[in-house]
Amino acid sequence: MLSFLTPKLPSVRILPVSRSLSSRASAILRPLDIPLSGEIAGAYDGSWKGSGDILESVCPSTGEIIARIRTASPSELHETLDKTRDAYKHLRALPAPRRGEILRQIRESIASKREALGALVSLEMGKIRTEGVGEVQEFVDICDYAVGLSRMMNGRVVNSERPGHSILEVPNPLGVVGVISAFNFPVAVYGWNFALSFAAGNATLWKPSPTTPLCAIAVTKLIARVLEVNDVPGAAASLVVGGSDIGEAIVQASGVDLVSFTGSEKVGREVGRAVQSRFGKTILELGGNNAAVVMPDADLSLAVPAIGFGAIGTAGQRCTSTRRLYVHRSISDKVLRALSGLYSAISPGDPLESTTLLGPLHSKTAVDTYVTALTSLRASGAEILSGGDDLEPLPAPLATGNYVKPVIAIPRTHDPLKEPWNKELFVPILNVAIFDHLEDAINWNNAVPQGLSSSLWTRDIRNVGKWIGPSGSDAGIVNVNVGTSGAEIGAAFGGNKSTGWGRESGGDAWKQYVRWSACTINFSDNAPLAQGVNFSI
Ligand code: NAD
Repeated sequence: MLSFLTPKLPSVRILPVSRSLSSRASAILRPLDIPLSGEIAGAYDGSWKGSGDILESVCPSTGEIIARIRTASPSELHETLDKTRDAYKHLRALPAPRRGEILRQIRESIASKREALGALVSLEMGKIRTEGVGEVQEFVDICDYAVGLSRMMNGRVVNSERPGHSILEVPNPLGVVGVISAFNFPVAVYGWNFALSFAAGNATLWKPSPTTPLCAIAVTKLIARVLEVNDVPGAAASLVVGGSDIGEAIVQASGVDLVSFTGSEKVGREVGRAVQSRFGKTILELGGNNAAVVMPDADLSLAVPAIGFGAIGTAGQRCTSTRRLYVHRSISDKVLRALSGLYSAISPGDPLESTTLLGPLHSKTAVDTYVTALTSLRASGAEILSGGDDLEPLPAPLATGNYVKPVIAIPRTHDPLKEPWNKELFVPILNVAIFDHLEDAINWNNAVPQGLSSSLWTRDIRNVGKWIGPSGSDAGIVNVNVGTSGAEIGAAFGGNKSTGWGRESGGDAWKQYVRWSACTINFSDNAPLAQGVNFSI
């Protein structure tokens, strides 16, 4: 049932149609077949449409409006949901290896636009170009993985206690998978979900972040062409661009069997409740508040750059960004000096330039969050080791972008239950505390509500054992001599506790995209009951 017949669209406003695009933006949109003028249709279910309100895509580096997109109207969303359901019926009838072959072609199509799509991620989301391209590579990698998986999504044969009986555990396609994604990984997160979901025989309905619609439109166009060539209904990969109202409607739709939600804890909590209340399935990938722990025997030539990348990379806007740093007292001066040196060598700039290591924040709201957090750190007596002073204005057209300086702070308290330690702020502020015993650092690491990623720097195997064992880090990602961010696709990705317990991408994550049946088959001439129960009539 859809609950948004009275639309409320805070992120959407009606704007004039005409625009003249900078050459910076048009050079990126053109190779991806994105119109450079007029309104762009934001919904796809075999044909492109959108007669709802207009939503604008704003470049975080310059403030330029790069596109105006027509969202789906309520009736269009209804129609798209129906068509996606029909596409599922088509897909589930295809043998899984045939779906794998189509995925292989999708992989080729995405790979052929790796650089162009990577530049679009950089333009629209604001991450530096190499990270934008890396994100597209993740899509390519997970397609490779899912192509193999399409021949390996096996069930099991279980021994029966009854003579002449056999038990099968059978995976079958689930239905429609709704993917609601966040702004910070506008391509890869959909890729993780789409590739596994498609291999498993499901149709996917994607609602991307309202602030990264062009990435979603460009990816969907590439997929749509492959589906068409293979006579698969386009609604196997449906798209509805829109705000929270569209997200809510998907969450409440009983025809969406699985909602894979990536976003904040606040929204994730609502999504989890709503889907549970109709007994749907969820995968929740929510906020992280990730710590790195540096022991006295750590190789600092590895640790310091990795912590720098974890904290400054993507301007602190990865779910796996390093937000907390726990350093052993005996090396704290050395580590903080080296880290401050690294910070002073990095200044923000155009993420499209190959030399830039720090792009803008994604939105003006994020800049406000940064300013408020810094003010509150100062007010509480924190020592600001790096950043925090005014940023020199950048030259046009960057002067109107959302740039900030990354900050290293030593708060007055190290109590993980108190601010600033206990919540995720999606900005490049790294809070530092000094510890004397590894057990203290592990306790602090585990005490926060979130449990996504964590990283220990040590050469001592005894520390490694503690860290990855039952008394160690309670996060979903527990690294050793590897930073908190930058996961590969092969392992199941996700976090524990208020990060939502979801798992996506590799490992056994595919098992969530199917419905499992236990099938007991009697090949004999008798019909004995299990556990020897006697019911003779
Ligand atoms: P957000 O929660 O504001 O939005 C996420 C998505 O939810 C968007 O598409 C949004 O339109 C939609 N939405 C908003 N309200 C909704 C509602 N009531 N019902 C359904 N959908 C709704 O998050 P964001 O600011 O786009 O992204 C940043 C957050 O995402 C951070 O907390 C980050 O840690 C998290 N994130 C987590 C992972 C992970 O794998 N754990 C990965 C990327 C981002």
